[in-house]
Amino acid sequence: MGLIVQKYGGTSVADPDRIKAVADNVAITRRRGDDVIVVVSAMGKATDNLISLANSISTTQSGREMDMLLTTGERQTAALVTMALLERGIEAISFTGSQVGIITDTAHGKAKIVEVKGDRVRDSLSDGKVAVIAGFQGVSTAKEITTMGRGASDLTASALAQAMNADACEIYTDVTGVFTADPRIVPRARKLQKVHFDEMLEMAGAGSKVLAMRSVEFARNHDVPLHVRSAFTWEQGTWVSNEEPSVEDPIISGVVTDMTEAKVTVVGVPDRPGVSAALFEPLADANVNVDMIVQNTSTDGTTDISFTMPMADLAQSETIVQTIADEIGATKVTHDDDIAKVSLVGAGMKSSPGIAAKMFRVLADEGVNIQMISTSTIRVSVILPGPDMERAARALHTAFGLDSGSDYSAPLPERK
Ligand code: ADP
Ligand code: ASP
Ligand code: MG
Repeated sequence: MGLIVQKYGGTSVADPDRIKAVADNVAITRRRGDDVIVVVSAMGKATDNLISLANSISTTQSGREMDMLLTTGERQTAALVTMALLERGIEAISFTGSQVGIITDTAHGKAKIVEVKGDRVRDSLSDGKVAVIAGFQGVSTAKEITTMGRGASDLTASALAQAMNADACEIYTDVTGVFTADPRIVPRARKLQKVHFDEMLEMAGAGSKVLAMRSVEFARNHDVPLHVRSAFTWEQGTWVSNEEPSVEDPIISGVVTDMTEAKVTVVGVPDRPGVSAALFEPLADANVNVDMIVQNTSTDGTTDISFTMPMADLAQSETIVQTIADEIGATKVTHDDDIAKVSLVGAGMKSSPGIAAKMFRVLADEGVNIQMISTSTIRVSVILPGPDMERAARALHTAFGLDSGSDYSAPLPERK
């Protein structure tokens, strides 16, 4: 008998039938004799809908009120899954993140976990109950309700698995595992049997949403192996762990695509010391996650600086940057929200020179214009025009020998 954490994502609990299917799976696990902690996301697009609702009411939402609003999505699912379990004769009880003592810092919308108490989870397990926990949320050291960033139910799951010393942490989603690319964009993507935490962290950081980055970071730091699998087919998925790659593993393990960033360019910036600091310090103070930065060489004593950041932070960034641009005497500020980031990730890159060059050649042959480039030891990323993303990703996937013999075959549920 073991303890299993099972996390179900939004598509997996999108409607009453899906919730019943999830309850059936939990019931099977429980009847097999295991203790089960269930972590749930909001149903389907519930979080997006709550955000739109807030946007239709206010343009300057307070973080506190947003978190009060958004946490209701997960809370709803937790109650409904619990009802479905009780209906099946399985003892169960739902909890909010706050009730189980997921203590975070005070950064609304992107709070970090400082401690997981878990007393009520322990108590309910020892009473023979399944604990069903609303993901994505906690309570801050200032006793306010917080959320931990988009996709953070994954983080709730890995944090609880670690705190409760679980034997397995299963992340149920709408695809059958982690693939060499998003199968919705590259149908020839291949399922990976296993992925090392370091590679998964780079993939998540490059924008692959199959696992939220902070959950991978947490799982790696605390050595919690994750099993990513489908709640639609229940087949074996992908293990994400510390297991070292073998020598036969391919140099490149995946192509990652990301359409969630936007680019801001400040034109005609005076080329003198301190200008970049003046520009990026206020963005950092406003908690904007700047990703790539490119500064052109100066020609007539001025230069252009471009940077990317999450689309959600675009309006805020533009306002901040416009103020600074006026102060420093830049010519103008422009933005582009139709860009995409395509990245190659692979631990083998460390010892294989020429990967970036080959990537640029493939893109050139496709007629794709690269706007920005950044690299790490195991990743090369480029920014390109949004409409070119799919073509670029597929061409790279083929060129680096990642294609499987056939298209992705499991059902790809529509995102509600
Ligand atoms: P959930 O709601 O279950 O958390 P997400 O939408 O957050 O699900 O993540 C699952 C989605 O991630 C898949 O439907 C797929 O489109 C996308 N995805 C992106 N990259 C990959 C990848 N490398 N392997 C598998 N899925 C990926
Ligand atoms: N519901 C939240 C989101 O959509 C958290 C999650 O699903 O993990 O981002
Ligand atoms: Mg997710």
